[in-house]
Amino acid sequence: MTARSLDDYVALAGAEAVDDVRRTARPLEGARVLHINATAYGGGVAEILHSLVPLMRDAGLDARWAVVEAEPAFYDVTKKIHNALQGMPLELSRADQELFVETQRRNVATMPDADLVVAHDPQTVALLALGGARGARWTWRCHIDLTAAHPSVWEFMRPFVERHDAAIFTMPGFVQPDLRIGRVEIIPPAIDPTTPKNRELPREQSAEIVRHHGFDPDRPLLVQVSRFDPWKDPLGVIDAYRLVKTEVPDVQLAMLGSLAHDDPEGAEFLERTVAHAGGEEGIRCLTNLDGIGDREVSAFQRAATVVVQKSLREGFGLVVSEGLWKRVPVIGGNCGGIPLQIVDGVNGYLVESVGECAQRALTLLKDPPLRDRMGEAGREHVRRNFLITRNLRDYLRLFTALRAGPRVG
Ligand code: UDP
Repeated sequence: MTARSLDDYVALAGAEAVDDVRRTARPLEGARVLHINATAYGGGVAEILHSLVPLMRDAGLDARWAVVEAEPAFYDVTKKIHNALQGMPLELSRADQELFVETQRRNVATMPDADLVVAHDPQTVALLALGGARGARWTWRCHIDLTAAHPSVWEFMRPFVERHDAAIFTMPGFVQPDLRIGRVEIIPPAIDPTTPKNRELPREQSAEIVRHHGFDPDRPLLVQVSRFDPWKDPLGVIDAYRLVKTEVPDVQLAMLGSLAHDDPEGAEFLERTVAHAGGEEGIRCLTNLDGIGDREVSAFQRAATVVVQKSLREGFGLVVSEGLWKRVPVIGGNCGGIPLQIVDGVNGYLVESVGECAQRALTLLKDPPLRDRMGEAGREHVRRNFLITRNLRDYLRLFTALRAGPRVG
């Protein structure tokens, strides 16, 4: 983890936002905070923690980050839980449930002590019930879109969640009506504008990187950056691209996706996506194995004529804010946290189908002044709402409130 200094955020987020963080952090000086999640790399949660934890430290807290240790079979189960919570009618077998619990029990034994614990997503939800960090205030942070949670899997999760002092969801619509817990917070995630992925990159450098990976920076370019996952609908993106191509024959499509450690389906779905692309000129799927790192993601997002995030379910979709921050209009699936970020017709478009996605892409490809206006609006929307300083302040407020109240976990 790279150390970070709040001073570096003044120019980007504004002095007021940074002062607000410092003020809110003061009563928490020295508090031992432990974030726990399932993976150090890949996906939005790791992305956030790489910034949030060092910033908490800079704000005066004794913040740490631990990653659950598990066998590959554990991730098969947690991926099933993730998919069921996002609406797939999957059931957990008794063996699945046992593996889920036993893996977390093993991790409890090595958990450091803390005053405040934030357990992220289902992979860590049982740690508290199994005896982790007694005496700490515990928060469960759910990053998943629960709007259509499969009832039996939610029922399995619910008692574990309810042991916590608080739960954080990205949107009110994700809070399950039967959840009984002391405190529910609605806190959307945010991006870090100082990272290699989000800080400025000269236009010539983005163009060079994109060219190096087989794209022509002078031709129109659609970009989707996502894990290869059915919820991100990469096959639908290719279909939309093909519709766009009938009117704009030189359009290109870059699909970038890292293969996350806790996402066993990734490699298989990448194969399906590549097969669907069928070697067509103009489309390429690239991953970390092709050398796609933060700088490359940044370059593609910047070089994009339009960023696409055609998800069918989405906890938040950091990539949407990442695109908007780079002054690129974003077309996103109208689901989960995406409508928080895309103001339809102002900084991008919300879409419900392949056809609509293609139509909106055509509108944007044909209208450079519209793209410029939307790009500026997107940058400002993210600056006000989705920078990490705001996310950090929200956590600090919650910690203060939790320390003031009784411990219920
Ligand atoms: N990401 C990346 N390389 C890739 C694909 C994704 O660095 O090839 C990053 C992306 O830039 C974003 C995060 O992984 O910061 C994905 O977060 P998001 O919330 O969009 O989706 P999640 O994967 O958590 O569902």
